[in-house]
Amino acid sequence: MTENKTQTFEFQSETRKLLDIVINSLYTEKDVFVRELISNAADALEKFRHTALTVTDPFDADLPLEITVEVDDKANTLTISDTGIGMTHEELESNLGTIAHSGSNAYLEELMEAAKKDVSLIGQFGVGFYSVFMAGKKVRVLSRSWDESTGNEWVSEGAGSYTLTEVEGLHRGTKIIIDLKEEAKDYSQKWKIESVIKQYSSFVPYPVKLDGEVVNTVQALWTKSHSEITDEEYNKFYKFIANAGNDPLTRLHFSADAPLAINALLFVPQENFESMGFGKMEPGVNLYCQRILIDQHSKNILPEWLRFLKGIVDSEDLPLNISRQALQDNALVAKLRRVITRRFLKSLDELAAKEPEKYEKFWDVFGIFIKEGATSDFEYQKELGKLLRFESSKSEAGKMVSLTDYVNRMQPDQEEIYFINGPSRAAIEAGPYVELFRKKDIEIIYTLEPIDDFALNHLGEFDSKKLVSAERADLSLDKKEDEKKDEAEKPENKELDGLLTWMQELLKDAVSEVTISTRLVDAPAMIVNPDSYMTSSMERIMAAGRREHGLPGTEASKKKMEINADNPLIKKLAELQGSDDEFARQITWQICDNAMIQAGLQIDPLKMVERNYKLLSRVVK
Ligand code: ADP
Ligand code: MG
Repeated sequence: MTENKTQTFEFQSETRKLLDIVINSLYTEKDVFVRELISNAADALEKFRHTALTVTDPFDADLPLEITVEVDDKANTLTISDTGIGMTHEELESNLGTIAHSGSNAYLEELMEAAKKDVSLIGQFGVGFYSVFMAGKKVRVLSRSWDESTGNEWVSEGAGSYTLTEVEGLHRGTKIIIDLKEEAKDYSQKWKIESVIKQYSSFVPYPVKLDGEVVNTVQALWTKSHSEITDEEYNKFYKFIANAGNDPLTRLHFSADAPLAINALLFVPQENFESMGFGKMEPGVNLYCQRILIDQHSKNILPEWLRFLKGIVDSEDLPLNISRQALQDNALVAKLRRVITRRFLKSLDELAAKEPEKYEKFWDVFGIFIKEGATSDFEYQKELGKLLRFESSKSEAGKMVSLTDYVNRMQPDQEEIYFINGPSRAAIEAGPYVELFRKKDIEIIYTLEPIDDFALNHLGEFDSKKLVSAERADLSLDKKEDEKKDEAEKPENKELDGLLTWMQELLKDAVSEVTISTRLVDAPAMIVNPDSYMTSSMERIMAAGRREHGLPGTEASKKKMEINADNPLIKKLAELQGSDDEFARQITWQICDNAMIQAGLQIDPLKMVERNYKLLSRVVK
């Protein structure tokens, strides 16, 4: 028997630096080295499959294309083998001894920085193999290329050098035997390695066998066409990837070849864990490149407000080894995000048309995320606007209308879309803001959640129609009619001029101006917003936010008060003002406080109660 010569090689100096970092890393999430090795094995199988198409009678042509994983918890070893393309002596030297792009300094610097921060990132720099030294104290790579008559063994402990020895009798492919470090000996346990493979490599398109059993039994469903997949398969798949116990509420499976190759399979779950008090969710969509996981819980592939979605986006156009940093800045990823987001929002709009009840359920559970999108994202405003739902003066209690419904019902001469915020439908309908709308039969949207006003303000308009808060001071529902009314009322209002000046002086700390209303029908007074963007409910939220963060409250923007010249109380007040000033003062303040309350604004409750008793005692006198 001839002894084969063992040659010793020094690692290229950059490699040595990297290995140093990897070996001494305290990084605890070591699992990714398994992903890296299995993804290399899958690549090697894929390369062989391609080669075999063009070569007659390649070496070991009959070997099944597969990946085999073996564990030995006594010897503390983990072995990963493939029947792929293999590596020649030279390839072992260049692939497992150097860093491929070591020419570029910037690249190297970034790589070293990433490795120091989080070793798992190095795979994204195209040097994933070296992550094996996170777990292995000694690594042996036995490889035989389809193209060479002998095989070789590469051995290293990661420090400084490696050896290469010719080995006879190897089959095609690569076998990596890892002597595990003490702190990584879990990887010689079957349960451990099985769970890691399932997490990262479930959809590898070749069988991964552990102890003779195929571990990756779930198919990469998203790569098949819709017509080949049953509902049951979709649901099973969802449960697998989302770790869910029940079926999804709805799904979108979509594929495109141009301008980008995309396979996306997105699921809407049944429940919103955030609203159940679990805290902010992590994004639930994973990014794959050719079925290999490249970004789990990807923050890059969808906007944050779609974090409730579960699923997979796979694009061959992405480089497999893209770094997470690069994912963030990658123009291709940004383009993918736009395409997928638009497509998903469109599918929701289609759902609303085709299965309104299902959409209602969706809105009920996840509407808050759509609103979050509408308040934070300018890019999809058009699409998001169509998806919003609200109660309105023309909806039944508890039933929702869309802005599209609203626009379709608008009066012929109506140009704007009106909304009003309140704590409940009943509160809004009892308040002064809807009076004229009711009289003129103009629909008004009820925004019952504080976020609604932010969403509508952020949208600004829908279908080229302005979204206008009914609290606005300059609101005029029908200009011509108002002007006529104004003129007709002017002389009559003369007698109230004195009252207005007096009230304004009295209330100067509370409101900036008191004017005669052109739109109050029954109520004596109402508070309106001179600032056309900030509604009272928004102001309340911002103030609460500042308090919560211990910030000083900002001076709330001064409101205007409108009074109703036709209201008996106001008429009476004008008389009282001359004869019983003190009583008139108390009534005026009470009217102002009442209007503030109806606007949902803060008043001084103690002062109000005290005054209220004074007024009551006059009544019972
Ligand atoms: P990457 O996979 O991004 O190229 P790696 O560090 O994971 O970077 O691997 C470096 C190279 O080593 C691969 O490009 C491949 O040529 C080679 N290689 C690694 N593992 C195998 C394998 N199991 N079979 C064949 N070649 C492999
Ligand atoms: Mg690799």
